[in-house]
Amino acid sequence: MDIIKISLVGKGRQKIIASITFDEGPHKYLHSLVTPWIEYDCVINDVPDSVAIVPFVAAILPIAWLCDAEVVVADNIDADFLNAVERIKQGFQQAYPMLNFGGKITATPVHNVPHQQILESACLFSGGIHGWASLMRHIDEKPLMISLCGSDIAVTNRKAWRTVNKVNKQTAKDFGLEYTALTTNFREVIKEKALNKLVKESGESWWQGFQQGILLAAYVAPLAYVYGLRNIYNVSKTGVMDCCGCHVIDDDSNSTDRLAKFRYLCSLPDDIISKIKFHVCEQPNSDGNNCCRCEKCYRTILTLVAVNCLGGVERFGFAWDDKAIRRCHHFFKTDISVTSSLAMRYYPAIQQEFIKNKESIHDFAKYDWFVKMDFSKIDEYAVKKVRRFFKKVKVATRKAWRRIGR
Ligand SMILES: [Zn+2]
Repeated sequence: MDIIKISLVGKGRQKIIASITFDEGPHKYLHSLVTPWIEYDCVINDVPDSVAIVPFVAAILPIAWLCDAEVVVADNIDADFLNAVERIKQGFQQAYPMLNFGGKITATPVHNVPHQQILESACLFSGGIHGWASLMRHIDEKPLMISLCGSDIAVTNRKAWRTVNKVNKQTAKDFGLEYTALTTNFREVIKEKALNKLVKESGESWWQGFQQGILLAAYVAPLAYVYGLRNIYNVSKTGVMDCCGCHVIDDDSNSTDRLAKFRYLCSLPDDIISKIKFHVCEQPNSDGNNCCRCEKCYRTILTLVAVNCLGGVERFGFAWDDKAIRRCHHFFKTDISVTSSLAMRYYPAIQQEFIKNKESIHDFAKYDWFVKMDFSKIDEYAVKKVRRFFKKVKVATRKAWRRIGR
């Protein structure tokens, strides 16, 4: 069995650095020269080492399980977390029955109890629809709002992070909540292309399906200790765990009720809606605002139109007019990033909502093309076929050049 060894290298006032060494098997999926680190907005230097190591161990677990490797933790690890590992693994196995989650973990457990309880609960918040619904559902608990840089916003894209961090801070202020953020380079530690291939059978991308949920849940472990948190609400079916007396809970991540969450948010009082600004765009070069031209932005905008949000989609921070509607139509017919399998997951339900609310949707006729579009066949548009062909040629040429270069 291959070994992945994890140890703490340093823990400063706000930063934790770890070392991950591994055998040949996991080498395919991890960069050996990148040192993983996390930087927090708050002071974390009194967090025990056995809690500080949790984020790195948890983040590596899905890779270890799928490589059937043994994770060896050099020092002690939080007992609550260690006890939860088998349950977390079973959660992954249930979510992805077509894959085999093997491997094991070897570590010495130690119990940790935070010195004080400053706040009862926290919400992981990125500005997306699930995060907003979760925050609004728990707003009476006055949860700590936690945002993370290094997941949907690349750690190198400081401009986008500054914008998003500023907006999230303002959101916390608007609702009278405490706010904290953290930054991690873990996405640079993994070889995502190889991992996407490893889980191809599941139909999910590595980051969305296997990494993001558990990483978010784990990276807040030191904050659970600092604030003495009891519950942290995460919106991921694979983002649950325990650490130092705190439970990270899946707060209804079920995407089948995505439309219900939109309806719920649109039904909130006017003074609340005026404070909601979605951040859904995941374009790699995003400036931190919604580009209003990518699949994720279009999906959100069309859903807001479908549920007939009062005052239009502009109220939620999107630019939208007749020209944008035409651009959206063109996008679905020509952009190869919108595959049929992705579209079928979301768009038929949005179409049904359009039809249901036909009478009340302003300018329904402008969306006639959308309601009639057959998303099961959108891969067959001629332009897409040509573009996919040229993409294949480009990739093959690049590979050939690389071979010659060697
Ligand atoms: Zn976008």
